Amino acid sequence: MRLLIMGPPGAGKGTQAKLIGEHYGIPAISTGDIFRAMKTADTPLAQQVREIMSSGGYVSDEITNRIVAERLAEPDCDGGFLLDGYPRTIAQVETLDAALAERGTPLDVVLSLQADEDEVVSRLLKRAETEGRADDNEETIRVRQHMYAEQTAPLLEIYRGQGLLVEVDGLGDVEEVSGRLFAALDEKLGGSTVGHGELIEDPS
Ligand code: ADP
Repeated sequence: MRLLIMGPPGAGKGTQAKLIGEHYGIPAISTGDIFRAMKTADTPLAQQVREIMSSGGYVSDEITNRIVAERLAEPDCDGGFLLDGYPRTIAQVETLDAALAERGTPLDVVLSLQADEDEVVSRLLKRAETEGRADDNEETIRVRQHMYAEQTAPLLEIYRGQGLLVEVDGLGDVEEVSGRLFAALDEKLGGSTVGHGELIEDPS
């Protein structure tokens, strides 16, 4: 099972991605987590990632595409994966599409986690207090929302056009939302899904 989860910053993608990964036995890969882990290193690339992330901007497509391609080549992705926070630009969509087409392993579903702007901004401000994430301050949050609206939200229409998009309401507590996501995925995939992304057809 090959999935994407999309949605504005603060919609809860990271939390839900982990739960979906555990539920279906596939790795949940977050580009944000990969970049956060990278930025502590003492290299020119780490320095660049640090600066971009603290401004709320996007890391370049070139770097991002390369990092994701390397991650998807790891053997744990052979049985499927869930990408969280990627693709975020049209160029990333094209690179991912081409890579998956070459392997003959297209995407199955693109999940869109929906939450309105007031809700996500208040969640991010709350997270700033509890987790102290460096990019959760008012200024950066504004930039990230703007980047999302401008560069990433239009990608949903591409996936809608491909018949892959499934929209799920991201409001409510964590279990409520994950229940909706599992139900939406099972419905879209037309059967119950277990283990390493294998699809068990519903015999009825
Ligand atoms: P959020 O969804 O809350 O903005 P993420 O953890 O997904 O947080 O991403 C944090 C930051 O990492 C982004 O603001 C951006 O700077 C960088 N980043 C993550 N994924 C990508 C991507 N696919 N392309 C470019 N930059 C990215």
